Amino acid sequence: MDKQRDFVLRTIEERGVKFVRLWFTDVVGTLKSVAIAPAEVEGAFSEGIGFDGSAIEGLTRTNESDLLAQPDPTTFQILPWRGEIDPTARMFCDLSTPDGEPAVADPRNVLKRTLAKAADAGFTFYTHPEIEFYLFKSGKPGHDGRLEPVDHAGYFDNVPGGTAHDFRRRSVRMLEDLGISVEYSHHEGGPGQNEIDLRYADALTMADNIMTFRTVIKEVAIEEGVHASFMPKPLAGEPGSGMHTHMSLFEGDTNAFFEEGAPHQLSKTGRQFIAGLLHHAQEIALVTNQFVNSYKRLWGGDEAPSFITWGHNNRSALVRVPRYKPGKSQSARIEHRGIDSAANPYLAYALMLAAGLKGIEEGYELPPEAEDNVWALSDTERRALGYKRLPSSLHDAIRYMEDSELVAEALGEQVFSYVLSNKRREYDQYRAQVTQFELKHSLDII
Ligand code: GLN
Ligand code: MG
Ligand code: MG
Ligand code: MG
Repeated sequence: MDKQRDFVLRTIEERGVKFVRLWFTDVVGTLKSVAIAPAEVEGAFSEGIGFDGSAIEGLTRTNESDLLAQPDPTTFQILPWRGEIDPTARMFCDLSTPDGEPAVADPRNVLKRTLAKAADAGFTFYTHPEIEFYLFKSGKPGHDGRLEPVDHAGYFDNVPGGTAHDFRRRSVRMLEDLGISVEYSHHEGGPGQNEIDLRYADALTMADNIMTFRTVIKEVAIEEGVHASFMPKPLAGEPGSGMHTHMSLFEGDTNAFFEEGAPHQLSKTGRQFIAGLLHHAQEIALVTNQFVNSYKRLWGGDEAPSFITWGHNNRSALVRVPRYKPGKSQSARIEHRGIDSAANPYLAYALMLAAGLKGIEEGYELPPEAEDNVWALSDTERRALGYKRLPSSLHDAIRYMEDSELVAEALGEQVFSYVLSNKRREYDQYRAQVTQFELKHSLDII
């Protein structure tokens, strides 16, 4: 730890860093930043930087508002978009109370607590996300109320002269400069929709990387004069933006999801983990899919899952087991296709892990895999097969989470009740709207 701190202090000196941004995340998943002078960094390491937690979404109750942000030296990076002159660096922070206790409502701390639980059971949790997002000409809808995408290309399309190539190229370079490896990048199915896939890392590093990723995409969008959005379903009738997340548990150097010769080479631990994800899918949806708009993706078709099933070659399934590449036991994994690009990655990964671990602890039985296209079945067929639905609205998701012991325990009482009240407020505001749809549909009905 001290070595890491020394490294940071030395780098600041050698590179002439002028500003150090301390980053943390609120409960909704918004990145917060405070810039300090290089001379303050040593003190920030030893004592933390004080701020008013009650001014930040979900962090504290007002009667215990003082919080300290303490930078994690392992996350030190120089921000490439600030340029060479007067370089700016950043570190992610852990939040604590003035007496040095980890802040219960710090999303990074929520994930750390769940990771510690996994570590007690001997597991390290690795993830890699495929992050989808849209590029629009501007953030303002046109006369028809729709946003205008930067192109009209589709899945894997090569767009000559389009913004998409330059955009992805610039973003990938910037991410690599920040120490975040990118595996794939391509045009996605929707007009102006793109996807960038990050190379796997432990879940805490990955949640930090996702926060950095979103900032990079927004910065590049500003440079390119376009508007980037991670909104789950920005265009009706076009695909939404998911954040498919591939997951594995390791015991030391061994992939605990892999078993030679088992169906799909999936171990008992892997099966139980999936069973946990399915069993608790309805309860954790309010966090994996946190906005009114999230449910328009989940129930809007276009390869987003609506039913709680798993499969190996089935893109309508909530959890998919990707084809195993012989000899690559290290990369055996499962893919969660429900989570969207607007989730708070710390809280969502904490709950996905908690659900999977519960499956292992309780020895949940994995139901048979879904062979069919689940959307093509009738309700009766789905019922006969025992396929449950994901929540169909934010309201539905609130109802499921309210009763969840698993979520209350994993998030902690304070975050749990904050998320619920924040989401109730969002849903109340939403349902009070009178929309264009209603006017068109019902104004002259009687
Ligand atoms: N955009 C789809 C979703 O909402 C996923 C499409 C894909 O990656 N195959 O999840
Ligand atoms: Mg993909
Ligand atoms: Mg995709
Ligand atoms: Mg995928």
